[in-house]
Parts: sequence; structure tokens; C-alpha cells
Amino acid sequence: MDKWVYLTHTAYDELRKTLGHAPSLDEMKAILGGKGAGLADMTRAGLPVPPAFTITTSACMAYIEAGYRFPEGLWEQTLEAMKVVESRLGKGFGDPANPLLVSVRSGARFSMPGMMETILNVGLNDDTLKGLIEFTENERFGWDSYRRLIAMFGRTAMGIPDEVFDHVMESLKAERGAHDDTDLTAADLRELVARFKGAYRKALGQDFPQDPYEQLRLAVEAVFRSWMGKKAIDYRRAEKIPDNLGTAVNVQTMVFGNMGWDSGTGVAFTRNPSTGERAIFGDYLLNAQGEDVVAGIRNTKPVAELANDMPQAYAQLLDICQKMERYYRDMQDMEFTIERGKLWMLQTRSGKRTARAAVKIAVDMVAEGLITREEALLRVTPKDVDTFLHPQFDEKEVRKAKEAGRLLATGVNASPGAAVGMLAFDADTAEKWGKAGRPVIMIRPETKPDDVHGMIAAQGILTSRGGATAHAAVVARQFGKPGIVGARDLQIDLDERLVRVGERVLRQGDYVSIDGATGEVFEGQIPTVVPDYEKEVELRTLLEWADEVCADPSVREWPADYAGYPTRGLQVWTNADYPRDARRARLYGARGIGLCRTEHMFFEQERLPHVQQMILNADEAQVLFDRRARLQGILTAGKEEGKPLDDKRRAELQADLAAVEDEIAASPHVKAYLGALEALLPNQRSDFLGLFEAMAGLPVIIRLIDPPLHEFLPSQEELLVQVTERRARGEVSAELLEKERMLAAVQKMHESNPMMGLRGIRLGITYPDITKMQVRAIFEAACQAAKEGIVVKPEVMIPLTGHINELKVTQVELEQVAKQVMAEQGIEIEYKFGTMIEIPRAAITADEIAELAQFFSFGTNDLTQMTFGYSRDDAERRFLVKYVEAGILPNNPFQVLDRDGVGVLIKMGVRLGRRTRPELEVGICGEHGGDPSSIEFCHLAGLHYVSCSPFRVPVARLAAAQAAIRHRGKALGE
Ligand code: PEP
Ligand code: MG
Repeated sequence: MDKWVYLTHTAYDELRKTLGHAPSLDEMKAILGGKGAGLADMTRAGLPVPPAFTITTSACMAYIEAGYRFPEGLWEQTLEAMKVVESRLGKGFGDPANPLLVSVRSGARFSMPGMMETILNVGLNDDTLKGLIEFTENERFGWDSYRRLIAMFGRTAMGIPDEVFDHVMESLKAERGAHDDTDLTAADLRELVARFKGAYRKALGQDFPQDPYEQLRLAVEAVFRSWMGKKAIDYRRAEKIPDNLGTAVNVQTMVFGNMGWDSGTGVAFTRNPSTGERAIFGDYLLNAQGEDVVAGIRNTKPVAELANDMPQAYAQLLDICQKMERYYRDMQDMEFTIERGKLWMLQTRSGKRTARAAVKIAVDMVAEGLITREEALLRVTPKDVDTFLHPQFDEKEVRKAKEAGRLLATGVNASPGAAVGMLAFDADTAEKWGKAGRPVIMIRPETKPDDVHGMIAAQGILTSRGGATAHAAVVARQFGKPGIVGARDLQIDLDERLVRVGERVLRQGDYVSIDGATGEVFEGQIPTVVPDYEKEVELRTLLEWADEVCADPSVREWPADYAGYPTRGLQVWTNADYPRDARRARLYGARGIGLCRTEHMFFEQERLPHVQQMILNADEAQVLFDRRARLQGILTAGKEEGKPLDDKRRAELQADLAAVEDEIAASPHVKAYLGALEALLPNQRSDFLGLFEAMAGLPVIIRLIDPPLHEFLPSQEELLVQVTERRARGEVSAELLEKERMLAAVQKMHESNPMMGLRGIRLGITYPDITKMQVRAIFEAACQAAKEGIVVKPEVMIPLTGHINELKVTQVELEQVAKQVMAEQGIEIEYKFGTMIEIPRAAITADEIAELAQFFSFGTNDLTQMTFGYSRDDAERRFLVKYVEAGILPNNPFQVLDRDGVGVLIKMGVRLGRRTRPELEVGICGEHGGDPSSIEFCHLAGLHYVSCSPFRVPVARLAAAQAAIRHRGKALGE
């Protein structure tokens, strides 16, 4: 029969027997859940852990699959385990004379804080209550425990809404004039139990179950069911946790933190989960049960104060923290309870932490000799690095806001980062606004697991109650959202949807700015700035280790016939158009520019008129140039259509040529066209010079003009409206004439599918003077930089090639320009000409393309568009989001590279290209270059580098190292 239940004190040995080897922590977690594994480990380490047993995660899945029924043997094994626990303690479950009480708690393989269910004090009924009171000689405690069971059981196992019990509690407190729960007397609590029982009966039409075993059974079922609850599913979606893991159920003997003022309960982190500082962190409450701390109902004390309240227990706790941290080699988040001065440990698990803490703890633990550098690199996620560099408030603006009296309140700085948004008072509103693209700050007195969908959609989270380990704080850190909890000056009125701060009133939809690092809440919007990377010593150290891993000359192994494949790891380059972006990227560790989109510079205000002149006159000028070129061609060849020229024909042609030359000289179009190019040349030259200076010594890939030209002109619709309106008014003006001319030009240029039309290399072939001007600018700038002593490595990139013949026409001509400029300048520099691979045909014929191209750069934005046939401009808006939600596609392929389709084309392109040219340099410059999963693919496909926006360079460096570590020693290739 399947084994569904493991006793905590024998679980490790039993698992060793079943598995045939000592179980790893991961194996233990897979079977017993994180909490069950932690309990087993702590018990083995000799820590004070109340006796317990764990029902396995697979029991949960078996229960769900069987249509919400216990699988065979589960209940029998549970009863047996209960007997063992009873005999270890000498107490009886349901025994009125000496009652055993248990907690029933969920615990999945991956921690899902607050997501699932807990029921405490199971086993209490009218009879055992008497025994408990006699045994503890504490009547108040007995009734307090009982009322908690009825409410928790009613809520969790039977689905009675929270408010039912909250209401009863609040009205009793009001009747008695009690402020805190602890102000209620034993008699009050006895009355409360009676009222809770009444509320239970009213809600369900049946009495609260008196049979302890029925309580246990229903509690276990509730935990199982909670795996399929909405909040758990939402959480799994957000964290990409599979649905088929199930949760374990831990049944553990109760110890009581609410037995009086010599008892208490709390949460301790072995290091600060917000900053990573190496000091015990957490909070506790005297005379309370666990949920009081986490729910944030009473204001807690920092755990360090326990040193005064209970010095002995505190010393023991410190010792245990150190022991468990060394054992797990990671920061632990532990729950403890002190029962009449005696410390008990209820849980240990790897603590959730902010990005900042994750980085600091990983780097510190290397220095402490606890983990290796590579382990440190695997401990930090790319998402951590990403949030690390998120914007923060501009200090000057914060000062101004304070001077202007806009500081509303200060709470606990639960999760760092700056967030600005509109107040939303409930999770559904937050979610709705978030989905509509509005920035939201979700504000609540405290949050509950039901609120998670709103928290995910919000920019930041703000509560007026609770401490650093309250639900809101844990979830904010988990998702890397700025969060402030316990901002007590905020008086939140959920009914009216407003918050009062002294005299001031803010309503739903009003803007606030919150700083999760300082805990400050401001009225209105405060501008943000990007953090100073240079000061982030730990992050920089970690990323230097990442680069070292990637620099290993033998980290990638290829089959013998993979000539030219890089054996070191990936480099990270950047997509940068301007020197300031290049400088930032270089500071962030970029090792080259993988894409400079030259056309971006065309949009600048003083250039756009020249660009428009260039476009508006290009066709007429080009017609004349083509005629001239044809005549010159015939005259130089001395042949026309294969026949030699006779004298008469030659004279005619010469006359034609002279006429064309005259036309060219007189043409206003030619004048405007060449004039515009001439005006743009120095601009482009200085742009490129700036890039070469910023990237001195590193390769700089500059891409020639790519987008369809209409993008540089006003929109056809707008022009049409303007022209029509002016005509209707009877206007006669030079301005109207100009607009009409522009409209005619735009209409002439109209294409049904501009993304598949006249763009990329096709533009360069159609109007060669434009790209020649660009190449001249690149090489003039490069020569100038070289003369200044800067090492320049320009690489000219031709976009959107689909056929080798296109390259033959363009590249050869452009190389001529490069050589001419170098001759003019009297200096030789190292350079490359290459192409983007953005069209499936280019990947498929990459062997031919590599005959000319000295490098490839995969433009996976277009390659994805062309491979799927999805418009990159419209697909997300129209259907792609739905596709992903419905599971038709696993991911948005414009964000995460589609390995099975686009990826196969990339691998084919690399392989074919290198067959022709083993030294072919290969990279990627689509948006995927900054996405961790796509970066891993690029490592496996044998690329030299990934290129991404400057802000993603640090993320990419980590992701590249993680790919290298994870795949080291594995055979790469097909
Ligand atoms: C690409 O297509 O992936 C690319 C980088 O070029 P762009 O986004 O400019 O079309
Ligand atoms: Mg492209």
C-alpha cells in the first residue's frame, strides 16, 4: 500500500529506506513539503520541536484526483500516526482528562506564504476544554483557544466568511469597552465562544463538531482543497509553480504562546530579509498565538527586544538561528513559540527576501565560507537583479515634497523601491486598473491571501497595520514590489473608499508615492531616478563573478565538426543609440554595442526636416541617377545589349548623358536630396564619434537605416484631416500647399504591409546614396577617433537581408566607400561588414549569406514576426495575450524566444553560416537578448554574445553565467 504519512522524528530514516539513499533536501521537500522537511530536519538536529507527522503531497493529489476523497489507507495511517504522537506525549486526542491538541497546517514543496490554510487547537470540544483548563489552571487561556478553533475551523474548513466572526468579536469588544483582544476576560471569552457557536450554527445549519477526529478529518480535507483555491492558483500562476505538486499537511502537537505573559510567539529571520544585514530580524508578541503576528492585527515588537523580555529563550533562539543557517547554508525564516518560558521551534524554511538582500546574503555567505561563488550566482535570480536597478525617488524631489508638507505618514519599510500610483482600496479594483495600464498603489488596513491578485497588479502596497513579517510585507518582498506596512497614521475607511491623515482626505484614484526603503508615504507624484550602480558593491562583485564564469575558455564543449563555435560563455553587449546609453551600458558591464539603430537619430527635432526633404525628393533624384548610371554603364562597357557601339550610337549616348547631367544639375529634387544628405552627414558623424569614444576598445555594430520611410513623415490620416479642413475653410496659403504636397507624397509611399515592404536592405538598394552617406559618416568618425588614439572596431550591419544577391549589390558598394574614406584619411582601421538575420529565408540560406557577411546578428523581433506570421505591432493587442492565457502558447514569443520554431532557424543559421565561415561572429539583438530563458538558448545555440538594452545588461550577465554553470560538462550541439 502507498505510504501517505510520515512521523516527523522518523521521516528521514524512513525516506532513506524507501529511496535507497540519504534523501536530499529537495527530495524531502517534494514528498513532505517544505514545512514537513524543515520539521524533520530540525527534529534530527535535536532542536525542541513539538511531536508531529506529515501527510504527503502525493496524498493531496490523490485526494483531488479521486474527486475529493481520501485515497485508500490514508485515514488509517493518520490514526496510527496520531497514536504514536499520543504515546510520545502521554496525552490523548479527545481525552477530557489530559487532552492532546494539534495544529493542522499546509506546506507545499515551494513556499507559498499565507496562501493556504492553517487550523490551530484541533481536538478542543466542550469536554476537552475542561481538561485543558484544569491542566493549565488558566481559564482565560482555555476559552481563548476554543474561540480561535471555532473561528478558524469555521472559516477555513467550512467556508464561513471572515466577517461573520469578526463582527461578533468587534461587537463584544465594543460592549465590554475592550481595545485589544487581550483586554477581554475569561468570562468575556466564554461568552464569545457561545456567540461563535451560534454564528456557526446560523451559517451552516449544524453545530460545531464535537468529535475531535471529525475535526481532524475536515481540517485535513480543507488543507487539501486549499491547493485548488483561487488564491493558491493565482499565486502559482504568478510564480510559475506547477499545479500537480499538491500540498502536504502537517499535524503537530500544539504548544501555546497565549498561556500568559511568560508565553509568546514570533517569527525570526536569521538575517534581515529587507537589507540582507547579518543580524536576527523579526517580530513577536507576548501572550498570543501565531496567527496574531502574521495577520498584523496587533502591533508586534522587534525580536531583539526578546532579549529583555526573556533573556534565556532569546539566547537559545540566537543559537538555533545560527545552527540552522549553517546547516541549510541559507538565510532561514523560523517560527517559534514560547510556552511558559520554554522555547519551541515550529518551522524553518529559506526566507523570502528582497532583491537587495538576496544579493548581499549571497555575496556575504561566500565571504563567510558557507557557499561557493557559483552557488551564490545560482541563489540570485535575474528578476532580483532587475528589481535592484529599478527606479528610486529623486532625493531632491523628496526633500521638496517634505518641505511642501506632502509627507503623509511613515510606516514599516517592508520592501524597498519607489512606486507611484493611484490609490485602490480593494484587490479587484487594483487588478482592473492594473490591467488597464494604470499605475496603482493598493491600500488596505492589512492584506490577506485573497488580495494577492490585486497586489500582483499594483505598483506598490500600503497598509496601516502589521509589522515586517505581516502578509503584505512578505508578499511585497516576494514579488519585488515596493511595500510599506503599519503606517498607523493612515485612517482607512473602506466603505467610503478614502483615507484620512489628520485633516487631509485622499480618495480612491488619488495619487500617492511610496518609498519602500524608508517607509515614507507622500501625497501626489514624486519623480524617480535610477539607482547609482557604482555604489552597489555587492551586486558588482556578484556580476564580476558571473563574467569570470563566462570567460572560462572551456565552459562550452562542442562536437568535433562544430568548427568555429565559441568554447567560452556568452558575452553581453548592448543595444545603444546614443553615447549616454552606451556609457551607462558600459558601466553596467556591456562588452560591445550589438545594435545602434541609426534611424533613431533621424527623429531628432533639428534633423527631421532634413530627413523629410531627403525622403520627399529621393524618388525624382534617383530616377535621374539611374538614367545616368545606365548611360555611363553602356559607355564604359562599349556595348549595348551585347552589341558593340558604333560611333554614331556612342555620340548619341554621350549627348544623352550630357543632357542627364544638365538635368541633374538643374533639378531642384536632386539639390534638395543631396543637400539633405549633406546636412545629415556631420550629424551622423558626430553621433558615431560619441559612440566610439564611449566604447573605446570594444566592437560597435552600427546598423544602416531600416524602417519604412513613411515612419519619418506625418501620418496620412492626420494630414488628410488637416488638408480637408483647410480646404473647406477656403484657405489659400503656402502652408496648405506644403501640406498637400506632403499628403501626396505620403499617399504615394503607402504600402499595405509596410513591415514587409520597402525597408531594410531594400531601402539601401533603392536609394544607395542614403546608406553610402551613413557608411561615410561611420568611417569618417572611426578615422577621426583612431587619430585621437582611440581603438575603434566599427561593424557595419545591413538589415533584413533575405537573399545573397541583395548583399552582393549593397555590401560591395558600401565597402568601396569605407575604403575610400580610409584612403582619404590616410589611416587603416579594423572593421567588419555583416548582416542581420531576420527573415527565415536568410537563416535557411545562411551558408550563402556568410560568403559575404562577416558577422550575423539575429534580429529576433522580426524573425519571430516572420516565422509566426504575427504582426509585432498588433498581435499582443489583438490575440496574443489571449493565446498565452488560454495556454495555446506557453509564452509571448516576442518576449521569450520560441525554441522549437524560431530557435531551430537560429541554430540552422549558425551552423550553415559557420560551415562557410568558421570565424563568423554571431550574436542576437532582438528583445530576447535581455530575457533569461532566451539567453540560455543563445548559450546552447553557440552564439558569441547577446545584446540588450542598457538596463538589462546586469540581468543578462547573471543569466549568461547561470546558463554556463547549469550546462557545463554537458554535450552541446544537436
Ligand atoms: C529585430 O528585428 O530583432 C531588431 C533588433 O530590429 P528592429 O527591432 O529594429 O526591427
Ligand atoms: Mg528588425
